[in-house]
Amino acid sequence: MLKYTRISILVAFSFIILFFYCSSANSYENFEVAVYSRAQDTQQMEDLNWLEPIWNEISRQVHVDKIYLETHRDMFLVDEETIAKAKKFFEDRGVRTAGGITLTVNERKRFQTFCYTKPESRQRVKEIVEYTARLFDEVILDDFFFTNCKCESCIEAKGNKSWTQFRLDLLEEASRELIIGPAKAVNPKATMVIKYPNWYEHFQGLGYNLEAEPKLFDKIYTGTETRDPIRSNQHLQQYQSYLILRYLENVKPGSNRGGWVDTGGMPYIDRYAEQLWLTLFAKAPEITLFNISQIQRRIGPSNRAPWHGTQTSFDLDEVMKPIQLDDGTTIQPNMIARAAGYTFEQVDRFLGKLGKPIGVKSYKPYHSTGEDFLHNFLGMCSIPMDLVPEFPADANTIFLAESAKFDESVVDKIKGQLVAGKTVVITSGLLRALQGRGIEDIVELEYTDKKAVIRDFVLGFRGTYQAKSDILIPQIKYLTNDSWEEISCRASGIGYPILHSAEYANGTLYVLTIPENFGDLYNFPAEVLTRIKETLARDLYVRLEGPSQVALFVYDNDTFIVESFLPELVDINIVVTKQVGGLRDILSGEVLSQSTATSGRGMFGRRGNTQPQKIFNAQIKPHSYRVFQCE
Ligand SMILES: [Zn+2]
Repeated sequence: MLKYTRISILVAFSFIILFFYCSSANSYENFEVAVYSRAQDTQQMEDLNWLEPIWNEISRQVHVDKIYLETHRDMFLVDEETIAKAKKFFEDRGVRTAGGITLTVNERKRFQTFCYTKPESRQRVKEIVEYTARLFDEVILDDFFFTNCKCESCIEAKGNKSWTQFRLDLLEEASRELIIGPAKAVNPKATMVIKYPNWYEHFQGLGYNLEAEPKLFDKIYTGTETRDPIRSNQHLQQYQSYLILRYLENVKPGSNRGGWVDTGGMPYIDRYAEQLWLTLFAKAPEITLFNISQIQRRIGPSNRAPWHGTQTSFDLDEVMKPIQLDDGTTIQPNMIARAAGYTFEQVDRFLGKLGKPIGVKSYKPYHSTGEDFLHNFLGMCSIPMDLVPEFPADANTIFLAESAKFDESVVDKIKGQLVAGKTVVITSGLLRALQGRGIEDIVELEYTDKKAVIRDFVLGFRGTYQAKSDILIPQIKYLTNDSWEEISCRASGIGYPILHSAEYANGTLYVLTIPENFGDLYNFPAEVLTRIKETLARDLYVRLEGPSQVALFVYDNDTFIVESFLPELVDINIVVTKQVGGLRDILSGEVLSQSTATSGRGMFGRRGNTQPQKIFNAQIKPHSYRVFQCE
């Protein structure tokens, strides 16, 4: 009887859910979608007549599983009655609710944060957290749980520590005493989530403690917004939307709850869609749309880019097609929410077919910086990157940028890899940092203070290739016949190493010369990038040959994605180094047959690449991706 009643209730409940879902977009199979509401927007929800038509419009254009209702931002606190009303509104519609907190005093005053040394300021933070944790079983901190306070109290508390060390210690303490402790005291069920912003190279300087905090918080979350790489102040490369999510997943495996994208900085509307799908290529279980008011911005013909209308991955003509609702009526899409909805529907078709993302293991110690954000530039040159916070001794090939200098014993670790017969690729920046720290025990190279302006590259018997522009590089000196130029460059009749190798015990150390302006990596000739990929990505079963600003995302089940960020159609070679009959385009069904067979093209050095290779030609449309399966 009891069982029967439970089933009846369940059936009745399902009907209610169905009733409310019938006018909404369908849910996605491979991820969940959340919308974030800032405190000022949440407060407006006290008027449900204001909220209802807005929510109806949004939820017809994108399916939403969850909403984060922020309680505090800029010293503004939403009243409890409004929160209760809003929670009920969403839960009645099958949308889960969670709390959000932005710990700013004044966002417009250069992101003024709370002071974590003054008692009254600390007390206020604690009260906001307690208030929110009483109302929600899940609370996320938007990415302002850092401190940039340099008041006299903070200066005195800092003492002789560096600002970085002082703030790391201070925010770790504040995490325990002002966030986690008080939240769990008022609501032991509360899941506390810390969301990290996109400036991961600089977290430590403002107290974001990636080593300590993820262990204290239940879950973490990732800011995957990269916006416009050229016009925005941050100049983040598009690839970062993928890389940072993987990096934070490696920081707290299984507990990186999702990625977060806003609508800022998109010179063309595809840029918004790119950030969303890159977050999902990285296998985010949830994606948050920031925020409920931004996603209502209108889209229409003014968002048209020159490549729209040619069946690119985000084709405005397709996006703007009327949506058929379950009740048979249709509506005309009109807002950014639809750009998200369309993108999610496209990606959801194939995400379930992709395995675990893999890439070149790149070690970045906690609280390190140096050659900031360089990994993303390499990602944009189709070198799949997998950034990890612990030294990946198991990997056959490891890439180390300058940030690895923060590990006191990194030279010993490099030696360990080489003795074990493995490959380590370091940058010119790391070489400079390790001079005098023992790198000369492996090979005597000198990172000089001299520079050269170069344009011509020499690839041994493969020939000479010219860059798209002049490139300024540091000059590295070496001892003749002790170490070897794999890739050279020429200027004014003399040359310098771009990729240099040195054998040590059973392995090989490579030094990759990084241009003074990282952006010049994009100007390297395709053939030079190919040679770099043959070394760096040698453990992966697939590589690309072609221009820069085309990225490769590789999964451990013989699937991969090729994505172009270029505004024109691009021809590429897909080089597969495992036994395959063909490559199937998962989206179109087209099977690419092998166009060239070679074996061991890359016979460079005594331990040259002799893998069998199969090469497939493919074209990628502007700002588009193709998804392939090896067959
Ligand atoms: Zn202060």
